[in-house]
Amino acid sequence: MNAGISANRPSIWPEHASARGLKVGGITPFTATDYPGKLAAVVFVQGCPWRCDYCHNPHLQPRTADSPLDWRKVMALLRRRVGLIDAVVFSGGEATVDPALPDAIAEVSALGFRIGLHSAGAYPKRLAEILPVLDWIGLDIKAPFAHYARITRIADSGRHALQSAEAVLASAVDHEFRTTIHPSLLSEPDILQLAQTLSGMGVQNYALQLFRARGCRDDRLNAVSMTAYPDTGTVQRVAALFPHFSLRQAE
Ligand code: SF4
Repeated sequence: MNAGISANRPSIWPEHASARGLKVGGITPFTATDYPGKLAAVVFVQGCPWRCDYCHNPHLQPRTADSPLDWRKVMALLRRRVGLIDAVVFSGGEATVDPALPDAIAEVSALGFRIGLHSAGAYPKRLAEILPVLDWIGLDIKAPFAHYARITRIADSGRHALQSAEAVLASAVDHEFRTTIHPSLLSEPDILQLAQTLSGMGVQNYALQLFRARGCRDDRLNAVSMTAYPDTGTVQRVAALFPHFSLRQAE
């Protein structure tokens, strides 16, 4: 079980809020694919500051005025899952956008669940503060850090992602770094360059995720064939850079 956020450490989270304020856009009550080796539920936090064209949860991008799902109902569902699942994963959107996330994690952790987080690292300082209370993190890496805006449409997003990646690697948290790839967005040399950068930073566990059209609203991306992409030679060269590597469909 994780250590808990120290009561003595000043929180950099803005307007530190109670879990009841968490904006939840959806929940998956049971999944075997969102936390490695564990049965889990996934809580999708509403809102994301980035605008990736390939996003397959675009309805979760806006920070809505109210929470689509009431946190008390989420907790009631999770209480009924005690003994049936091992972990709860906070995903999004971008879960670290929500100032109520630390309290929500604390409430879920008190039920005895392992805590997972899916994040793109948009808020590195907030991420660094909650890393000690996580049991596992899946960190999305969009592109070579200098070219992030090509994917996210947001200037400076690569700097934030790099800081988040460094924070995860400096922590003791079990993690996976993963990159969704599409031939219009990442060339084979881009993929290799990014993999070499991540390997050089010390990433041990890396996955390439093939773009899938389901949920994506960008017809341009959906129309492009994924046949023969990425090249087998590229995949082999990337795989050789990491102790643990997988190629799979985007989740
Ligand atoms: S960071 Fe994730 S949730 Fe946000 S727009 Fe990109 S793919 Fe969608």
